[in-house]
Amino acid sequence: MDGYLFDLDGVLVPTAALHQQAWAALFGEFFAADGVRPPYGADDYYKYVDGRPRCDGVAAVLASRGLTLPWGDPFDPPTAPTVCGLGNRKDQYFNAALAAAADFAPYPETVPVLQALGGRGAGLAVVTSSENATQVLARAGLTDWFPVVVDGRHRRLHGLAGKPAPDTFTAAAGLLGLSPARCAVVEDAVAGVAAGRAGGFGLVAGVDRGAGAPALAAAGADAVMTSLEGLL
Ligand SMILES: [Mg+2]
Repeated sequence: MDGYLFDLDGVLVPTAALHQQAWAALFGEFFAADGVRPPYGADDYYKYVDGRPRCDGVAAVLASRGLTLPWGDPFDPPTAPTVCGLGNRKDQYFNAALAAAADFAPYPETVPVLQALGGRGAGLAVVTSSENATQVLARAGLTDWFPVVVDGRHRRLHGLAGKPAPDTFTAAAGLLGLSPARCAVVEDAVAGVAAGRAGGFGLVAGVDRGAGAPALAAAGADAVMTSLEGLL
């Protein structure tokens, strides 16, 4: 492949635990306040929020319990009783968890794999639903590897559909000057793998960091691996 389009959380950096912690804090308290059953559990993360834009994840968890809230606005304060307000509260919890994680670093294989792919002249991009990509990349020391970053801010600015739609990956391939057929999508989330499949990319690599190989294969992964070294 001439280009590699990497998801960020759970692919390049082990932020999944921090995101899971933030979602559990949000819905733990939100559901407990109203006696919503069943309580938020670990499965909800993989089923409803992993890989999706934040507000879409909030709406999906609420819908799973038969709940709806007004959508609100991306700039709602974290206290607002809206889908976006809850999403922003989750973001607050995530940023606090990231700041408190003293030894935050990429996965051990991340930099060696980027060195190998970069050494072959491959184009490298990050494609993430995250609104925190810039901070997370900087904190992990990865900023300089990626001339192209299509993140949540870019998506909103350009009116692109989020994963599982392929649009953000297609945009990143275009920014690298490559067709989708010449690019690999590297994803750990079912929604992201589905986006890669829908976009007609040359390779869709599913990295199993917890979603499970059967789920990634069913979503359309050409290959499922447990480490990025599977790309080499
Ligand atoms: Mg991910």
